[in-house]
Amino acid sequence: MSTSQNGARRGSREQADKYTEFVSRGFGKDLAKRLGLPQPAILRRYEPGSPLVEGPVLVLGQSAGADAVATVLLDWNQDVRRHATPKEKLGAVVVVLDELSHPDQLSAPIRELGASVRDLARNARVVTVSRTGLVEDAPEVAAARNGVDGIVRSLAKELRAGATANGVLLANGIQANASSAMAALRFFLSGRSAFVDGQFLTASSEGAPAGGGAAQDWAKPLEGRVAVVTGAARGIGAAIARTLARDGAKVIAVDVPAAGDLLAQLANEIHGTALQLDITVAEAGARILDHAAQRYGRLDIVVHNAGITRDKLLANMDAARWDSVMAVNIASQLRMNQAFLASSHFRANPRIISVASTSGIAGNRGQTNYAASKAAVMGMVRSTAPLLAASGGTVNAVAPGFIETDMTAKIPFATREVARRLNSLQQGGKPGDVAEAIAFFASEAAAGVTANVLRVCGQNLVGQ
Ligand code: NAD
Repeated sequence: MSTSQNGARRGSREQADKYTEFVSRGFGKDLAKRLGLPQPAILRRYEPGSPLVEGPVLVLGQSAGADAVATVLLDWNQDVRRHATPKEKLGAVVVVLDELSHPDQLSAPIRELGASVRDLARNARVVTVSRTGLVEDAPEVAAARNGVDGIVRSLAKELRAGATANGVLLANGIQANASSAMAALRFFLSGRSAFVDGQFLTASSEGAPAGGGAAQDWAKPLEGRVAVVTGAARGIGAAIARTLARDGAKVIAVDVPAAGDLLAQLANEIHGTALQLDITVAEAGARILDHAAQRYGRLDIVVHNAGITRDKLLANMDAARWDSVMAVNIASQLRMNQAFLASSHFRANPRIISVASTSGIAGNRGQTNYAASKAAVMGMVRSTAPLLAASGGTVNAVAPGFIETDMTAKIPFATREVARRLNSLQQGGKPGDVAEAIAFFASEAAAGVTANVLRVCGQNLVGQ
């Protein structure tokens, strides 16, 4: 396929949701309003050079942690307010609740947040910063901390016009302005998290550098890093490869030999290298390491994206369908990770990010095999985290919901239309939305953010 054909294909996918465009302006907007039809917003997505937030950032909370977070936001050149000015449109509200010890303490700050909801600009952000509720906490402390979960997930369902609500969770002993927490806050505030809604990221250690990561190069966060992306010839994998390259990484694009032409085009476009490889072969990890060592002398970031579906009701499931899905979606990742973890080329703050699926969280009819493999990925991520911690590494998963790709374009129209609208943002995500979450986990600033499963699903009504 020629580059222009490839560009046209990408273009047609980007325009796939014509309905959203139709109801965004003029006659379509009036019609949708009169008929009470869904009116999904055109989401604010990250472009290099675009502002972090469009409008002032209101920081709520009385603690020292709230002051410290406000200072970080000032360091990021944001227009920070500590009190709402009536009628002024806000780009974001950050609610710092790092000292909660009883549910009664939620009332004042959350009502203050409520009072500012009507003043949110289009595509605004609400982000809470609070602590993880632990088994060893006193019951009233755990109750208060857990209460934040219900607030964020409900508010996310109330917000309109592309606005989202998400939360940063601080593990025990982590300060509100720890660089890992601030990296998560920055991700949620930015256009990088356009399709992430009603979700939490946990900062489990401080991360480096200290003091909010003000010295980070936020435009090229992956400069000097070497990444491998599996299943990179098309769809979400191609978007991941492009996004990591945009952020400064050298990318090794892996896919099966049958996808060789598309793979070579992609690698050319992003000035990376192509490696034709079936990831289910026993030596896949070694092949990737050899390629990385020869071309770049190192490997820093692994993105396990390649995945397949072979849907059948369990009553009709045959061995070929079950085994092929498990082989590609989980067994290959386990085997390759063993090779990466044993390699001296994968030692400098390494990152592993796996693509899971909301099917692995909520389950899906006809997908016992696929959901098993994706739930397995999440289990693998959690128990690989301690193995990587020694070398300053992290491992996380991203669970996409309905994403506009060739795969979902094949779903019959009516089913697709329903699947696409059944989330708080009333639209499907784009491959780039999944890629942005992966680029965040891959960044140096996200050191200290590990063992997370982040849903990129517009807050799908199924699952959590
Ligand atoms: P896709 O089918 O468009 O692309 C997958 C790519 O992986 C293809 O290029 C394919 O050749 C490659 N691949 C498959 N088997 C391979 C193997 N053995 N070795 C090397 N490469 C192999 O799919 P997509 O929609 O871009 O999905 C990418 C990932 O996202 C998958 O893990 C999928 O399960 C997950 N996902 C997608 C959606 C969605 O809505 N599209 C939702 C949730 C999760």
